[in-house]
Amino acid sequence: MPITKTTNKVDVNKRRIINGEDADVIQLYPMRHTFAWDAYNTGNANHWLPTEISMQKDIEHWKSPTILSEDERKAFKTVLGFFTTADSIAANNVVLAMYRHITSPECRLYLLRQAYEEAVHTHAYQYIVESLSLDEGEIFNMYREVDAIYDKDAFILSFNEGIFDGNFKTGTFESDQKFLENMVVFSLILEGIFFYSSFAVMFGFQRQNKMVGAAEQIQYIMRDESQHLNFGINIINAIKEEQPELWTPEFQARAINLVKQAVDLEAKFAAEVFPKGIFGMNADGFKKYIEYIADRRLERVDLPLQYNTPNPFPWMSEAIDLNKEKNFFETRVTEYKVGGTLEW
Ligand code: FE
Repeated sequence: MPITKTTNKVDVNKRRIINGEDADVIQLYPMRHTFAWDAYNTGNANHWLPTEISMQKDIEHWKSPTILSEDERKAFKTVLGFFTTADSIAANNVVLAMYRHITSPECRLYLLRQAYEEAVHTHAYQYIVESLSLDEGEIFNMYREVDAIYDKDAFILSFNEGIFDGNFKTGTFESDQKFLENMVVFSLILEGIFFYSSFAVMFGFQRQNKMVGAAEQIQYIMRDESQHLNFGINIINAIKEEQPELWTPEFQARAINLVKQAVDLEAKFAAEVFPKGIFGMNADGFKKYIEYIADRRLERVDLPLQYNTPNPFPWMSEAIDLNKEKNFFETRVTEYKVGGTLEW
């Protein structure tokens, strides 16, 4: 867009998540959505790379004829199959939908960090596949072959169609609601629900002391993803504040309905992928866990709880909880910072 030559300074009160009036997306200041700046700094402090994590134990476990059962191998490959393409779908959303339509410069700054983190996650899956000498064609193509993965991805991608369209523009009631709907589907559902059965399986391996390198990769990924989810929820809540007219009872009902559809798809995924359960987690446990997670997402955007299901995997909160996680990550993150400093 052309630059207007003017000595008038940008008015912070005109900054908006979308539809910023006289939107100047080039100037970081004056900053209004400080949650984005905080998220950016947290992301930088959590910097990591997949190749820093040793996969030696995993290679031994995968090669051993006795350590992993056939069901465990299948579960490991299928969750990896889901993961390998999920972060590319996430990256597309960040770059092709959010970055294009968000008019808050500090939010766009964080999106650049988030886009990079999605790339790091895809790298992590690639690194796991490569370390274990898995068949790339088999794992990376699973989203087009395995129904339970295909159905989740097709659900997400069906919402991308409208919003990735080059002609799509925010600024009308319908298009702004469409953008908000995409945020609900992307943040609450893809980042907030669809990753969680797979996270649970990976931490199940970790609790058995199996495939510990892959599980550690996933723990770093989950730390980043919690931040992405927080950011997405902040975006949704900020839009609600800035444009309350969008958050109609009909829209709220639609959002709840989408979350419920997602819970069904995720429960179906878990039941198909782990028909006999895994590590003491059975289909019913997964279903309850997904319902518990869905309620946590709904309450963050002030929508009514739908399930009131207690958490059947309380150990997952320990793996997820960002505060508790801090100690776990302290050593490596510090090491990384020192290494980075010496390099320079
Ligand atoms: Fe993400």
